[in-house]
Amino acid sequence: MESYFRSLEEGVKRAYSIALKARSRGFDPELEPEIPFAKDMAERVEGLVGPKGVAPRIRELVEEMSNEEAAIKIAGEIVKGKFGKFDDNEKTAEQALRTSLALITEGIVAAPLEGIVKVRIKKNSDGTNYLAIYFAGPIRSAGGSAQALAVLVGDAIRVGLGLNSYKPTDDEIERFVEEVDLYNTEAARLQYHPEPQDIRKAVKNIPVEITGEPTEKVEVSGYRNLERIETNSLRGGAVLVLAEGVLQKVGKILKYVNKLGFESWEWLGEFAASRVTDDSEEKDVKIEPSFKYIKELVAGRPVLSHPSEKGGFRLRYGRSRNSGFAAMSMHPATMVLTDDFIAIGTQLKTERPGKGTAVTPCDAIDGPIVRLKDGSVLRIESYSQALKIREDVDEILFMGDILVNYGDFLENNHILIPAGYCEEWWVQELEREKKSKYTEYLDIENIPDEEIAIRISEELGIPIHPRYTYFYHDLTLEEMKLLYDMLKKGEVRDEKLYIPLQEKHLLEFIGVPHRIEDGYIVLQEFKSLLYCFGLVNGNFEEAYSRVESTMELVNSFGIKVMEKAPSYIGLRMGRPEKAKERKMSPAVNVLFPIGRNGGKTREVEKATRKGKIKIEVVYRYCESCSKVGITTLCQRCGEPTVFKRKCQSCGYTGDISESTCPKCSSRLNLYSERDIDIKILYERAKARVGSSGREVVKGIIGMTSLYKIPEPIEKGLLRAKHGVYVFKDGTIRFDSTDIPLTHFRPREVMVSLEILKMLGYD
Ligand SMILES: [Zn+2]
Ligand SMILES: [Zn+2]
Repeated sequence: MESYFRSLEEGVKRAYSIALKARSRGFDPELEPEIPFAKDMAERVEGLVGPKGVAPRIRELVEEMSNEEAAIKIAGEIVKGKFGKFDDNEKTAEQALRTSLALITEGIVAAPLEGIVKVRIKKNSDGTNYLAIYFAGPIRSAGGSAQALAVLVGDAIRVGLGLNSYKPTDDEIERFVEEVDLYNTEAARLQYHPEPQDIRKAVKNIPVEITGEPTEKVEVSGYRNLERIETNSLRGGAVLVLAEGVLQKVGKILKYVNKLGFESWEWLGEFAASRVTDDSEEKDVKIEPSFKYIKELVAGRPVLSHPSEKGGFRLRYGRSRNSGFAAMSMHPATMVLTDDFIAIGTQLKTERPGKGTAVTPCDAIDGPIVRLKDGSVLRIESYSQALKIREDVDEILFMGDILVNYGDFLENNHILIPAGYCEEWWVQELEREKKSKYTEYLDIENIPDEEIAIRISEELGIPIHPRYTYFYHDLTLEEMKLLYDMLKKGEVRDEKLYIPLQEKHLLEFIGVPHRIEDGYIVLQEFKSLLYCFGLVNGNFEEAYSRVESTMELVNSFGIKVMEKAPSYIGLRMGRPEKAKERKMSPAVNVLFPIGRNGGKTREVEKATRKGKIKIEVVYRYCESCSKVGITTLCQRCGEPTVFKRKCQSCGYTGDISESTCPKCSSRLNLYSERDIDIKILYERAKARVGSSGREVVKGIIGMTSLYKIPEPIEKGLLRAKHGVYVFKDGTIRFDSTDIPLTHFRPREVMVSLEILKMLGYD
């Protein structure tokens, strides 16, 4: 494992040194790669937000304590000036907060940069100063706990700077109450929607001001034009931090408040105390169908199963090699029979435990049960079987299993709900009966035949094998009685049960395979079924008069029967997965503007026939030889060039820092429209890359970026030669599906053993 990571690191270093060398030649807008190379979390934090020199100290701290404690500590040290002085206290506070949040989120999300807009020191009505933190929407990427801790860190910074607490006015408090509700109805559903009294209490007591930038167009209607709140629009970042951060994660904050001895947070204790009683009530909560995932539907994206509806997806706990966090599996036959709407990687919206998931195939779980047009009902157990019968399917009676790993429940803070009886469970019950003579069935794939299964249950007292467990719980007692009356009339001939054709739908509901023959329902698998209706031992009528539930009824005749599918999960298609090469339409090889000079096909070669063409491109100036150009290094003398601004109306040339023309007050741009000798550029590029002259390079009409820096045509020639295209952001990329894969076979990934060994697999 270590050598594998070492090989990755070495590979990255090798690529990075090539990138450094390439960039230094000045063909790209920057002379160095923009992304700093970080070898651990501490370096990532320093690279992401700074300050310079903080990485070694972070490394020291996280050796001794959790990231969260280290984050609070490091904020304090930044405030004390351990890493240098900043412009003023506001800048110091901002730096401390960003570094701290980056540490909490391990330097892998944009929240510390984009989620915090600024930190200001503002005045209370009594003249004292306090700290205000301005949050923005991307703070969400930090997650609730980190958002909550950001506020706690803010308080540590406040104390470090010797500032007073924030003393909100009543209007400011009510503004938050209004805004949380408004956010929930107009912007996005909050994961946690706090009660007004909780909001009031929190805003009143949190010692720093949580505020922020407007994130939505919608404005509050009640508490408008408040002196200290600069906007009437929704402050999405602030709402998230208060609701999903501080109020949702009370426990988390309290842990550090107690551990590190924070003052002014005692009020949180009451919150936590009231929460505990909430939790204990939660244990008795009945799991109700949730309609959230089908609230907003998009045409063409089907609902696969309704909330907790019978016949939908059966919850199965576990993990396959290609499932994991936010990646669930279903049987490949289900994918086929839902008309291929569901492919590997398709995003699904889920009823529970979370909101969504990617889906992958797994053929070790139960597939669908279908009714064919000729009336027969069968289990579909393989992909090939599904392909064979897909045209004959009349109705899907049961969608099959959805494999959900425990971590998804944990991560979404969802209580575990009952699992259906399945093979792996049965095998464990069998295993407990160590001395039994049925050890061969410990092999999960070795399914006992019906008679043996019944014998095992009778002798060992373990539940009937899941294969012969039907969805009894989906019928009412009255329906069970109807089914009993029907089964009673059955006759066994040649090891098959013949029942006169009637009430067939009841057998369909409970998922018993059968077919139709000359007015009879024919069952090949029926012994366990008859057993569970007291037709082998016992007295159905007597049991029926006594029991209160269907499961109690089928358990009345000597063998134990478990619930096949106590939990169904609703699913719908979210969005289709798009693993494919990203290219513009039409596809281009180089981001070089050629206006309309390339004809319909936008061929650069066609434009060169005109010699010079008029295009809008960046205005770069060489200060040593006064040449104007488009490249980072001067094409005449090789010195670095600088950006200049041009006035489009009068031609004035300004500095990068100027924004309006001093002569005519027009806006100054970083580019200008001028004649570019495309023929020379193209010929020179061809000579440089050793072109065969056969490449057809396609360019773009114009650029829409702020700087309008074109790519070197050389890149276009090389891309055309190798048949690759560039996307509008300058990348050549293939967007792949983000799903886990913990194991694979070499031939599945089409890589030879030798190469895999070279990559560090052994
Ligand atoms: Zn020059
Ligand atoms: Zn001008």
